Amino acid sequence: MTTKSTTKTRNLCVILGDQLSENISSFEGFDKKKDSILMMEVLDEIEYVNHHKKKLVLIFSAMRHFAEDLRKKGFNVIYVEFDDSKSSFTKELERQCGIHKPEKIVVTHPGEYRVLVEIKKWNDFLKIPTLILEDTRFFCQISEFNEWAEGRKELRMETFYQMMRKKYKILLDEKGGPIGGKWNYDVKNRKRLPKDIGVIPEPLAHKPDKITQSIIEKLKEKFSNHFGEIEPFWFAVTRDEAQKSLDDFLENRLDLFGPYEDAMAQNEKFLFHSVLSMYLNIGLLNPRDVIQKILEKKSIPIESIEGFVRQILGWREYVRGVYWHYMPKYNESNFFEAKKKLPDFYWTGETEMNCVKTCIEQTIQESYAHHIQRLMVTGNFALIAGLNPKEVCDWYLSVYADAFEWVELPNTHGMILYADGGILGSKPYAASGNYINKMSDYCKGCKYDVKKKDGKDACPFNYLYWDFFLKNQKKLEKNPRLWTVFSTIKKMSKEKKEQIASDSAEFLKKI
Ligand SMILES: Cc1cc2nc3c(=O)[nH]c(=O)nc-3n(C[C@H](O)[C@H](O)[C@H](O)COP(=O)(O)OP(=O)(O)OC[C@H]3O[C@@H](n4cnc5c(N)ncnc54)[C@H](O)[C@@H]3O)c2cc1C
Ligand code: SF4
Repeated sequence: MTTKSTTKTRNLCVILGDQLSENISSFEGFDKKKDSILMMEVLDEIEYVNHHKKKLVLIFSAMRHFAEDLRKKGFNVIYVEFDDSKSSFTKELERQCGIHKPEKIVVTHPGEYRVLVEIKKWNDFLKIPTLILEDTRFFCQISEFNEWAEGRKELRMETFYQMMRKKYKILLDEKGGPIGGKWNYDVKNRKRLPKDIGVIPEPLAHKPDKITQSIIEKLKEKFSNHFGEIEPFWFAVTRDEAQKSLDDFLENRLDLFGPYEDAMAQNEKFLFHSVLSMYLNIGLLNPRDVIQKILEKKSIPIESIEGFVRQILGWREYVRGVYWHYMPKYNESNFFEAKKKLPDFYWTGETEMNCVKTCIEQTIQESYAHHIQRLMVTGNFALIAGLNPKEVCDWYLSVYADAFEWVELPNTHGMILYADGGILGSKPYAASGNYINKMSDYCKGCKYDVKKKDGKDACPFNYLYWDFFLKNQKKLEKNPRLWTVFSTIKKMSKEKKEQIASDSAEFLKKI
């Protein structure tokens, strides 16, 4: 469906697929009589990585619902569906400018560097002034982050987060200090899931309506080669539905979010996580509203409230700042010179490592894995097996419904792979099987023995962990946070080191 208006437009306001908010900056000063909105589904965006089918359904359905909503409110919306569109934003925009002859193009700053580069060419290519406005949905503007980062030796999340708490007066006492006396309740947030936890309420599932159903059918026909399972599709695709998902989280899972934030369990895909990132990232939820609602929950323990606020006001804002501060160079580094090809099992889940298999199979089904699954299972494996950062980053960008480069890249390239050499993290998040065993029940159902350190049935995480530090000793041994690792290595016998190297080489050869 393409809606064509022949009336000449003053400003053409381009709304991208992750800008589905009525408070988006490009709407400022919008005149319903003179201006039009352009929304485009283009092939380049569908195909630049192998996006999960559920992610494509989410974005297109949310875009089409948003367009319908705007039309009902009297906005003139030009909407180009992928069947009718040109291959790129620029080509489609050129066509639309030929029809509507706008005086100006207005767009909010995009979430990905590659799109910003494309937008910056519109002015000269189309000979139409193009105004790029700040994305004011974020708490911290890019220029503000750059100012904060200027001259600092280290850009640590914790320092940034405290600055944001003070700036927005969130969870502060009368003296301006942190409520409860601590900025951070991390130590209380590392509990393993107890056996008697009972039934954990799953996130709210939304029934696909006609619009969503028609997208599902179209995608099945045209993009069946894309990753992941398209059905059952249960994501929210409107603001109303996303709001219900938020309320459901506040009501049913927030209270235990903090303590079990780092836990993993074989038959629990979501645990107490909010499963809201995809709605926040495409604009169905506004982070300010989410924080406001969280703060109103006075009866919830501080470790859950602070734990959640830290994710949104701290991590989410911080990784965006790091992304724009360091792009376009950020993804060029490869600190460990890791070269190994991404194993096929990242796409199929066919591996005998039960933890990896479980997280990947869940990803295939849901286009979702929670933070610790991404960080300490698939991410940890990618780090200690020495997988190529570019391929790992493309995988994370493809498979998760919430994946947009501004948030995916710092988490992958920086947090899990340490490929940025320590810009984002103060040490690599490498862990042996012991961590996974402590925080989950995955090892019980595994062919490998988590207690064994070497030999054929030993847990691969155990020898790969030491192999990683032995291979990268020169680059890491001066890091004070790795003192205990390298003091153990100093005491290690030559035979032990040889055993680790041969077990690792043998395993890595097979994958
Ligand atoms: C390798 C890797 C890749 C990741 N890629 C993405 C991505 O593409 N998109 C994305 O939104 N998140 C990404 N994350 C961060 C985090 O894993 C997800 O935001 C979270 O799992 C989403 O699930 P949730 O909504 O249930 O989050 P919850 O655990 O309920 O957390 C609440 C919210 O906090 C925010 N948040 C939490 N941690 C982070 C973080 N590290 N960075 C940014 N925001 C955070 C999210 O908006 C999330 O919805 C990645 C993490 C890792 C380790
Ligand atoms: S034994 Fe090792 S590979 Fe198997 S589930 Fe545990 S940590 Fe994963």
